Amino acid sequence: METLHRQELANLLARPELRRLLEVFNGRTEETRVVGGAVRNALLGRPVTEVDCATTMLPDAIMGRAKEAGFKAVPTGIEHGTITVIVDGEPFEITTLREDVETDGRHAVVHFGRDFVRDARRRDFTINAMSLGLDGQLYDYTGGEADLAARRVRFIGDAHTRIREDYLRIMRFFRFHAEYAQGAPDPEGLAASGAERQGLAILSKERIRHELLKLLVAKRAEETIRILADHGFLTELLGGAAEFGRFGRVAADDRDSPVAIWRLAALAVGVEEDAERLRDQLRLSNDEHRKLAAYAELLSLLKTWSLPVDTAAIRRLVADHEPEALGIALAATAREPSPVVHEDAREALARYRSGTESVPVFPLRGADLIEGGVPKGPKIGEMLARARQAWLAEGCRTDEVYARDLLRRVLEQL
Ligand code: ATP
Ligand code: MG
Repeated sequence: METLHRQELANLLARPELRRLLEVFNGRTEETRVVGGAVRNALLGRPVTEVDCATTMLPDAIMGRAKEAGFKAVPTGIEHGTITVIVDGEPFEITTLREDVETDGRHAVVHFGRDFVRDARRRDFTINAMSLGLDGQLYDYTGGEADLAARRVRFIGDAHTRIREDYLRIMRFFRFHAEYAQGAPDPEGLAASGAERQGLAILSKERIRHELLKLLVAKRAEETIRILADHGFLTELLGGAAEFGRFGRVAADDRDSPVAIWRLAALAVGVEEDAERLRDQLRLSNDEHRKLAAYAELLSLLKTWSLPVDTAAIRRLVADHEPEALGIALAATAREPSPVVHEDAREALARYRSGTESVPVFPLRGADLIEGGVPKGPKIGEMLARARQAWLAEGCRTDEVYARDLLRRVLEQL
């Protein structure tokens, strides 16, 4: 068992914006507490960036009280009782206490209630179900504190039943395990997740995507991905094969600032078709898809790069490709037989990625050719393309002297 940071609960409550909020929303007949992730993270001594609250007040009353107090209130999810209240620029989500009335594996019909115990019991894991009162009292109805101290992610109540209420909890089980647990996953949760696995098929791709991308950047993503694979979840989630070695190398490389889409690339993209499939499978945005496609293209380039990759090659590569994607592709393939990469080439790439060296930009424009006497028309495009090939082969120079010489040579071809 590890110690928890009880003092952090007091520190959390000492934040002036949160204090003001709780003072306004607590009274003789109404009670509002901090709930869920904020309490969990404070106890772990981890940063608390989002504070959610639960309250006995009904949504209209929350809106009314916020207005009286001069807080901006936005009915972000008013149909399920959630209002965002902004205090001195800091947003808080306040949700009316709820109890599940009906569940079908993906949606729940909820009623508003006034009971903190019932609200805790409808949450997923014990570590996510604690609440904290304005007076500093920690309420733990499900044994969350002990599980948190043991770094254990456990369902509240019977795991099978809880999963059948909402199959997304399978994904959340692995996601929270990867982020907060130590040791092996809770055996009951793992067995129930395996047994109920087919239920994932009824979930929307968006919900799966959200949990999967969060899992990929969790502290113990690598181990947890292995567990997902060993228990037959991964192929279905990704719709294809997984590259564990590449994922591990990228995860070791980007530990301080992991980016989910690049980790997904390392794990699940081998060829360009993988990027197409994942776009569909996980409802990726155009930008996310573009990143996966760029990574795939670089992989195939690097795999067939016959010479060792040196600084000149890097310069040429970043002229055509996003430095970030190149960095991920090189990290992913670092211990593979090809490509062979010079140490100073990696350093050069680091400079392009950080922006200390700017990416070379092709120095000629159509206007330069027109000025040199080439008539407007398709010829311009062809000549520029040929000039660009020469520019890439000659080291992507961008100085004036080179640019003028290149223009002269292009015009001589006329
Ligand atoms: P994070 O820091 O990842 O946002 P979190 O604890 O805030 O962690 P959320 O997914 O934002 O996690 O959910 C907020 C809280 O709502 C959880 O702590 C949990 O109590 C509850 N919750 C969220 N999703 C579910 C679910 N599918 N089933 C039951 N309870 C849930
Ligand atoms: Mg949250």
